[in-house]
Amino acid sequence: MINNSTKELILETARIEEVVGDFVALKKRGANLLGLCPFHNERTPSFTVSPSKGFFKCFGCGKAGDSLTFIMEHEHQTFPEALRYLAKKYNITIEEEAPTPEYLEQQSHRENLFTVIAFAQQFYQDYLWNAEEGKAIGLSYFHERGFTDDIIRRFNLGFSHDKWDGLTAAAIQEGYKVEFLEKTGLTILNENKQYDRFRGRVMFPIHNLTGRVIALVRVF
Ligand SMILES: [Zn+2]
Repeated sequence: MINNSTKELILETARIEEVVGDFVALKKRGANLLGLCPFHNERTPSFTVSPSKGFFKCFGCGKAGDSLTFIMEHEHQTFPEALRYLAKKYNITIEEEAPTPEYLEQQSHRENLFTVIAFAQQFYQDYLWNAEEGKAIGLSYFHERGFTDDIIRRFNLGFSHDKWDGLTAAAIQEGYKVEFLEKTGLTILNENKQYDRFRGRVMFPIHNLTGRVIALVRVF
């Protein structure tokens, strides 16, 4: 666990314009910098970065914060992950202290969610390539849209069963807990019944900077 003096050093060292500038093209506008907001769709820039205050604020969607919140929000990282990201960016050596039991529990909970998402991604991908329904609807949809097999594989695209509980039943059979399936949003619980959120859809995984799948979204 990162100790407090390291945390302070990271927060003092991080320059908001550099941290945001790795992801957003910023232009000088007076004392501030301006760019297109990465958190909502816009054509006219309303995303402002203030180097002197160490803050960003979007006047379109209202999102605001410092370097750390930017990385957490933009890269879907936890507080400690974002700290480590910034430490790496600024070559700061992290001093560790023993983690608390609460911290350990939180981490294992998060790992469980990632494991469930990774299972679902593989499940949807296998279904796209190997099942008749996946090939007939999902794969042909991607081909019609001009996606090559190489792209489809590289981005781990998939297809969800047109069944009430295709994924949920398979995951439970593999030993995944319904509780975690529900937390990822892939399974919906309703009066003791459980069913898949996504059915008969082509699926895109979302990766974070470290290449980990953090969510799955449907396309049509
Ligand atoms: Zn915005």
